[in-house]
Amino acid sequence: MDTLLYDKTVNCPVCQRDFTSKKVRSRKLIIAEKQDDLNVVYKDINPLYYHVLVCPECGYTGTEVEFEDISPIHKKIFDDQIRYKWKQRNYGNPRTVEEAIETYKLALLMAQLFKKPKNYIGNICLKLAWIYREIKSNKEEEFLKYALVNLQESYQEERLESASINEITTAYIVAEINRRFGNYKEAIVWYAKVLDNPVIKNHRQLQLKTREQWRVAKGQYDEEKTA
Ligand SMILES: [Zn+2]
Repeated sequence: MDTLLYDKTVNCPVCQRDFTSKKVRSRKLIIAEKQDDLNVVYKDINPLYYHVLVCPECGYTGTEVEFEDISPIHKKIFDDQIRYKWKQRNYGNPRTVEEAIETYKLALLMAQLFKKPKNYIGNICLKLAWIYREIKSNKEEEFLKYALVNLQESYQEERLESASINEITTAYIVAEINRRFGNYKEAIVWYAKVLDNPVIKNHRQLQLKTREQWRVAKGQYDEEKTA
């Protein structure tokens, strides 16, 4: 597993200290399974464990993509509500599943405090649900529900870049979680939103997968009606 990870040095935008966090060598990953809600399971390691960065000094937490991106207002909120409570903890070593879960919960706490977009919050909940799925915890369902609510609202209320991969992926995930929960009619409506979006033509694999899942949901819906 050691060869799958390497250290990356990160500068904390809040306390300005450097710290290291593990990163996964994505070229070495071997796919074990692709699940219907787009979770990809890899052999030997779960890259989702390293998706969230946590500064050991001050506790500032975020996903890698937006970590450095903190506004003065958010810094102030963080200083007032989190920083003074933070007890030094280091997530810079290979993470256990419990540690990975802790990092996601910290990321969620901060996302809620900073009133981050629902699309961002929904995606954190989705990934956390996938980690719970790995350990067969019934918390999976709880976080899938949070993901569903946030992603559905983000699609309807937030200005996701129109006709983007994010927009169609969000609709697909909403469809698929609905189907998992047995809301077949809702699921069918959301698969249709994916298939009706013109950008789907550039994403052949997702298009085929959506058609396939639409048929599955339709079958389940018909079966339920006649039962
Ligand atoms: Zn810091």
